[in-house]
Amino acid sequence: MSDAKRRRTGDEDISELRRNARQTYLAQREAQQLALLRRQVAEEAEEEERLGSKLTEAERRDFARNRETLRLAEARNAIDEHLDGYLLPDVDGNRASALTKRHNEREKGYDKSEVQLWEEEQMNKIKSQVKKPERVNADDYEFVFSDEMAINFQSDGMPDPDKALLERQLKEAEQKVKTMEDVRKSLPIYAYRDELLAATESHPVLIIVAETGSGKTTQVPQYLHEAGFTKNGKVGCTQPRRVAAMSVAKRVSEEMGVRLGRECGYSVRFDSKITPEVTKVEYLTDGLMLKQLMSDPLLSEYSAVVLDEAHERSLATDLLMSLLKELVAVRPEFRLLVTSATLNATKFSDYFGGAPLFNIPGRTHPIERLYSSSPEANYLNAAVTTVFQIHLSQGPGDILVFFTGSEEIESAAEYIQETSRKLGSKAGPIIVAPVYGALPAEDQQKIFMPTPPGHRKIVLSTNIAETSLTIDGIRYCIDCGLEKQSVYDHKRSMNTLVVVPCSRASAEQRAGRAGRTGPGMCFRLYTKYAFYNELQMETEPEILRCDLDGPMLTLKTMGINDLLNFDFIDPPSTTAIAASLEHLYALGYIDSMGKVTKLGRRASELPLDPKLGKALLAADKYGCVEEMVTLVSMVSEAGTLFFAPKDKKVAADLAKQRFSEEAAGGDLIAFLKIWNEFTENEYSQGWCKENFLDYRALNRVRNVRDQLQRLCDKVELPHSSSGISDHVKILKAFTSGYFTNVARLNRDGQSYSTVSQKLSVFIHPSSCMARKQTRDRWIVFYELTSTSKEWVRSVAPIQAEWLTEVAPHYHKAKQ
Ligand code: ADP
Ligand code: MG
Repeated sequence: MSDAKRRRTGDEDISELRRNARQTYLAQREAQQLALLRRQVAEEAEEEERLGSKLTEAERRDFARNRETLRLAEARNAIDEHLDGYLLPDVDGNRASALTKRHNEREKGYDKSEVQLWEEEQMNKIKSQVKKPERVNADDYEFVFSDEMAINFQSDGMPDPDKALLERQLKEAEQKVKTMEDVRKSLPIYAYRDELLAATESHPVLIIVAETGSGKTTQVPQYLHEAGFTKNGKVGCTQPRRVAAMSVAKRVSEEMGVRLGRECGYSVRFDSKITPEVTKVEYLTDGLMLKQLMSDPLLSEYSAVVLDEAHERSLATDLLMSLLKELVAVRPEFRLLVTSATLNATKFSDYFGGAPLFNIPGRTHPIERLYSSSPEANYLNAAVTTVFQIHLSQGPGDILVFFTGSEEIESAAEYIQETSRKLGSKAGPIIVAPVYGALPAEDQQKIFMPTPPGHRKIVLSTNIAETSLTIDGIRYCIDCGLEKQSVYDHKRSMNTLVVVPCSRASAEQRAGRAGRTGPGMCFRLYTKYAFYNELQMETEPEILRCDLDGPMLTLKTMGINDLLNFDFIDPPSTTAIAASLEHLYALGYIDSMGKVTKLGRRASELPLDPKLGKALLAADKYGCVEEMVTLVSMVSEAGTLFFAPKDKKVAADLAKQRFSEEAAGGDLIAFLKIWNEFTENEYSQGWCKENFLDYRALNRVRNVRDQLQRLCDKVELPHSSSGISDHVKILKAFTSGYFTNVARLNRDGQSYSTVSQKLSVFIHPSSCMARKQTRDRWIVFYELTSTSKEWVRSVAPIQAEWLTEVAPHYHKAKQ
């Protein structure tokens, strides 16, 4: 701040107040950093214990350095406690300093000193407090954001800061810091604690309906634990989304004052933090709970299960509802609690023969809904524009934007950061926090960090923040009105992810996120007409729109043979059930009498899609289990593996080509080459960067691969290896699962025709096979996507003769 300005404020007390506030702010930030580092070191210690000699030298060094940094920081902390916070030693090149830097960069958003930033924040805060907010009317909602616009939003005269105002702000900030216990007691569900527990004494099934943020997920399992339900088993709380399971478990372990993975933990596919016998409250995905039920039909480890987010009607939750209904009948001491965020839960209560239904009133403030006056051509741009429109004209409060997927979120994040940099001091500082399924755990936590004073947090989320995660402090919601849904595509006999308009119920949930702290505003990037005429009332249950192969196999292995008469809450159509039974028969998972085969039983133990499971099991026959474990782990990351910066497209392309050479083994063998080199280079981040490969994606592959290898032992698959030069064995094994994804070259020499649906498809330009001068006659592919054309991705060449060998039933029927 310049001296002139300082003179103008002319009040030493205010400077003092500011200094104090700044110190509090810095201390909070440093505390967060230290907590992060502690967590990281703890996680690394666990990893070290788990991986032991498998750790590379570089990793070992990193871990040791971080441990040392933490030790120094703790020591320093002890000395500096009476001062204004503490500093982490900045050891060059180590992860702790990277962490610190990353943290700072994120919070700042642009290159300014912390002092400058703080001064600016305060100025902006005062401005925004004093300025009358310019309301955005639905009529003039169409708005194109530009720098000139931004300047118009600036108020001319700078009002003198008001000491009382600053004092009030500081007091408010202090009051916010309540103890965990107070926070727990302040949740709406707390008033019903005793009543709920009393009802569980006499009723085996309870239905609980309460608004998002009431405490269903975090509190109900704890109440059961506190009331002694966990003396003879644990409480499992299912979540349709893995991110939710992980982050809620983290939160609850903090509330319980225990280390994550001890009394409170989580299990999600390919990752779990629980301690047998010790863990009493377990958050797990509904899919994993299904698997538990398969291996132990009585769920003897659990004394109670909370089926959370039942309103979402995810496939696994639906199946669990039916299966646990049966379990309750045979285990009288077992308790089932079904929770939902939407009111129409009488369906659940009826399904469970009139189970008691608790309607817990929420605490939402009024929300103003604003609609776009005409449909938005580009909702991504419209969303970013609206973010700044709010940021520049409205009072404090964080913004939550709903998008459909990670790619959109990442580009919106970039766009927002860029615009914020351009605006510089014309707008208050912002923190951009993305959240989506594949986000690494440490980044997920960022959305929950309290927004520092004067900043505005902008959370960019998929529909995960609709009801699964509660983020405090949101006052503005921007809703694109769309969501990504997994839908069974009959044309291709597979599940595809498609972007569709969300339901009205979802849109209302999204709007509701803005009214938790005070009155809120929800900006809908679609017209009022669309809301009332184009959106469905409710989202269709997943079981009615999804591939049933996996679920039907699951039910079959549990001994449920008459699937057509099974007690589904919403039964799928007879044709859909029949079609998947046919496919299971072609895969060799059930016999002609409809009974599960040995192969089917083994496949059901693998947490994989039935096709991928078959590829892995078939690899045993071809002696390439090791290679298939890698391939199975790699294909699901195929879309995120490569990155090509705009200015280095050519270099990136060349690097990519190196792995596929003449494309003889197609993309599938290229994936194996990439993996082999990654391991030869000791999982090095530098090597990934040189080769334009995403390090995080490869790390996920590594994690999945480790788990799969352990699973192979469980299903007694010997670790055979063929080496990757023998393409035939590997591709035959893969085709054993993917025989429906086979296509034959058409006469035009460019397009292919799929055997399953006679669909005309093209090799996607990202495939190494697209470079070949002459196309192979037969191909197998992992996925099919459609944009302007139908594209196949992750492709490899095969021979027609293989088909009768790998899938005799299927290909004879098709000839
Ligand atoms: P519900 O399941 O009813 O939607 P939750 O149990 O998820 O509600 O959340 C209850 C409260 O706990 C929220 O209002 C929020 O204040 C707090 N909370 C939940 N998760 C977190 C988190 N990860 N970090 C901080 N606070 C959280
Ligand atoms: Mg919840």
